[in-house]
Amino acid sequence: MADRVAEREYDIVIVGGGPAGLTAALYAGRNKVRAALVEAKGAVVDGRLLGAGGQLLNTELIEDYPGVRSILGPDLAEIMTEQAQQFGTEMLAASVERIRVDPDGTKVVETDQGELRAPAVIITAGGNPRKLGVPGEAELAGVGVSYCAVCDGAFFQGAHLAVVGGGDAAVEEAVFLTRFANRVTIIHRRGELRAQPILAEEARRNPKVDFILDTVVEAIEGDRKVKSLRLRNVVSDEVSSLEVGGVFIFVGFLPNTGLVDTHVDHDPAGYYLTDPLTMETSVPGIFAAGDVRSQLTRQVTTAVGDATTATIAATKWVEERARRRRAGDEGPR
Ligand code: NAP
Repeated sequence: MADRVAEREYDIVIVGGGPAGLTAALYAGRNKVRAALVEAKGAVVDGRLLGAGGQLLNTELIEDYPGVRSILGPDLAEIMTEQAQQFGTEMLAASVERIRVDPDGTKVVETDQGELRAPAVIITAGGNPRKLGVPGEAELAGVGVSYCAVCDGAFFQGAHLAVVGGGDAAVEEAVFLTRFANRVTIIHRRGELRAQPILAEEARRNPKVDFILDTVVEAIEGDRKVKSLRLRNVVSDEVSSLEVGGVFIFVGFLPNTGLVDTHVDHDPAGYYLTDPLTMETSVPGIFAAGDVRSQLTRQVTTAVGDATTATIAATKWVEERARRRRAGDEGPR
């Protein structure tokens, strides 16, 4: 069972334990600030956080993390967690329900285990897969509709699978699914893929992968398991049916940016806008890193870089605030 964390005071609270959060914990520990990382999916056993890593846990192989030729996602998550813990950041297993900004500028992180208070917060809360929102998707989730190839791919030995989406995730996961499936059909709403050329080329070269382009899924059909997809070609308006054993949906990501109880500037898709030099949001003392931040791409490498910047900036910010307070300047920050 998780420790109760009621009413603790820190310099920095880090919300979320994916690559960005673990990097922030590492740097905060090394900067010798009083910091805590809160991770909802983790468990603390003998003082060690287990089960952190965010999306690394759903990633099979990582081959684009410099310095590491190739590593399984869960293995990288374990190493990052251990390394982050070495330098003294407190690791807590709790679910963050709300982040409140008190009138004196203190950030109060309300969790299901109690409140954490700090002048600065780094939000590294990642997000969740976007849903298609078509009939059958919710009803057949877990019985043929999936958002995680690593988690569910092995259930589809020899099957014909559909993958919906045209971005990096769709193309990469389609290739991964050919380990199990006999055929993987990528269904994309436009005539060309959004994915990086190197990933798209790998999918095109794979004899088990084929493509249905300019096409949307209008419904997922089946009774207690997925049987077929109703498709519509957006150019010809032609409706067709595709028999499949399962459908994996990779149509983007919804950031966890709804936790702060005051307005934080964000882009039209809901990602936080941050100062490029410091990763600070529009709320003084609230920093953001990783997949919650508005940016061109979302990689482990960018999450780690953002979090490094955010933590160094947050540390300076906390020290400057303390200096000003000692000098009698009681601003709202
Ligand atoms: P993404 O790049 O936003 O792509 C989402 C795809 O889903 C797009 O092709 C989009 O179509 C399509 N889509 C969105 N809404 C849809 C809907 N309602 N119906 C049908 N299709 C829809 O998302 P992602 O692939 O999840 O990647 C997220 C981020 O992670 C990206 O920055 C990506 O670079 C990164 N990533 C990187 C790697 C890697 O480097 N190995 C692997 C995975 C993810 P349109 O193209 O028409 O917009």
